[in-house]
Amino acid sequence: MENDCIFCNIASGKTGADLLFEDETLVVFKDIKPHAPTHLLIVPKKHIRSVNDLTAEDQGIIGHMIMVAKEAAKRESVNESGYKLLFNVERGGGQVIFHLHLHLLGGWER
Ligand code: AMP
Ligand code: ZN
Repeated sequence: MENDCIFCNIASGKTGADLLFEDETLVVFKDIKPHAPTHLLIVPKKHIRSVNDLTAEDQGIIGHMIMVAKEAAKRESVNESGYKLLFNVERGGGQVIFHLHLHLLGGWER
């Protein structure tokens, strides 16, 4: 947990947010500036800067994030129309919040 990290603060409950899902490993909430009709963020409670910083012991977290994203897509009814799962990695990859997160984007007309 890093005190000045916005996603650590949301994941720990220090900063209020409307969580759509929470378990011992991660939280899911809506992106504040959505880039799609459905735009959720899947955020681990562990502070990991980016995909570059993942270690072998984080494999379970990544697998769990994808499984939870799949379930969230179903709950949001975008599973059949389809969606994107996206990690932005470091500044050149468009990352602006340096706490690992998986974007779930969907809900477009098809
Ligand atoms: P990235 O560019 O991959 O680092 O994405 C960071 C995302 O976090 C952006 O899409 C922001 O709109 C979103 N975001 C930033 N602050 C908040 C917040 N307080 N609650 C929800 N989403 C946020
Ligand atoms: Zn953090």
